[in-house]
Amino acid sequence: MTSEQTYLSPPDVSEEEIEAVVRAMRSGWVAPAGPELTAFEDEIAGFTGSAACVALSSGTAALHLGLKYVGVKPGDSVICPTSTFAATAFSICHTGASPIFVDAQAATWNLDPEVLSEALADMAKRNELPAAIVTVDLFGRTCDYDAIIPLAQQYEIPLVIDAAEALGATYKGSPAGTQGVLGIYSFNGNKIITTSGGGALVSDDQDLVDKVRFWSTQAREDVAWYEHNEIGFNYRMSNILAALGRIQLKRLPSIIAKRKQINGWYQDAFSEVEGVEVVAEPGWGESNYWITNVLFDDPSGETAILVREALAQAEYESRPAWKPMHQQPVFADAQTYLNGTSDQIFARGLCLPSGNNLSREQIFDVVTVIRSTLG
Ligand SMILES: *Cc1c(COP(=O)(O)O)cnc(C)c1O
Repeated sequence: MTSEQTYLSPPDVSEEEIEAVVRAMRSGWVAPAGPELTAFEDEIAGFTGSAACVALSSGTAALHLGLKYVGVKPGDSVICPTSTFAATAFSICHTGASPIFVDAQAATWNLDPEVLSEALADMAKRNELPAAIVTVDLFGRTCDYDAIIPLAQQYEIPLVIDAAEALGATYKGSPAGTQGVLGIYSFNGNKIITTSGGGALVSDDQDLVDKVRFWSTQAREDVAWYEHNEIGFNYRMSNILAALGRIQLKRLPSIIAKRKQINGWYQDAFSEVEGVEVVAEPGWGESNYWITNVLFDDPSGETAILVREALAQAEYESRPAWKPMHQQPVFADAQTYLNGTSDQIFARGLCLPSGNNLSREQIFDVVTVIRSTLG
């Protein structure tokens, strides 16, 4: 058993990142913009096969400005999954619009296309179609886009991809974050790669990316003095953090390979354990294996709680899946289209330690603790 606390997904920063940050500082570009930032944006665009990219201060900022660009405004509504991190819904609120929560698909934990279809039909009937649909590729698994994209097209609603957790994953061979009008990634401290805090927006629409970049730097017009025709935001990533991000991006394939190995160890170890299953990867793509999720059979949720407590005793951090937005006090009044799946995921699901530095022995140790709790 380990004597030190093992976290869910700690940042993994090597000497190379440290040197890159120092180099960026020594270069004199301790400014918001700079060559590292431009290079990072080009590399993200290249990695995701997108025409353009803008690096921002967070994934939330990227979603906010992306939604603003597709025309979401105060009084509008925007569909998003109820099973997600609150930032998805908060960014909708930042535009002045209201989130409408749609339930999850049991197999992937992502937006359920059937419930989405029912929601859109219902909203169309009431002449209240949403201004946008935000999908989330949760825990690194992509959504069922072949079912979702036609719905967005049928109702002519822009599709925004929250791939904050899914950089490096694919859907039928195409990179996560590229199935809609725009996609966003997060480089927060616990994500698959990190800039300590940061995000990016990608799109094949160069005008979109240019406009978001413009808004993100206080909507400053290109003249000698500070001239503003629009309200801006201070949302740009700094040159120094981009230097960190460039090394992390370079290391992403090896990070994904390690996380996949961890996921495989969990699958092997759990294959003989009754009462729990590792959430499988969707058949249509390759996950980035950001976090390995398990689902316990016990519908009461009691087992998941006991396991989490037992793991905490053994100094392993584990966490329930995202608490559904429709269960959050702040969204008590939100409109919802539910089928009960996200409630089950929250009660029965658990996120297990998935950090890059975990050894096979540690994974087996985690499984041993879980097995003995299951009795
Ligand atoms: C992390 C995350 C965000 C927000 O990203 P930040 O960089 O932390 O602002 C948005 N959506 C999802 C699904 C996330 O996991």
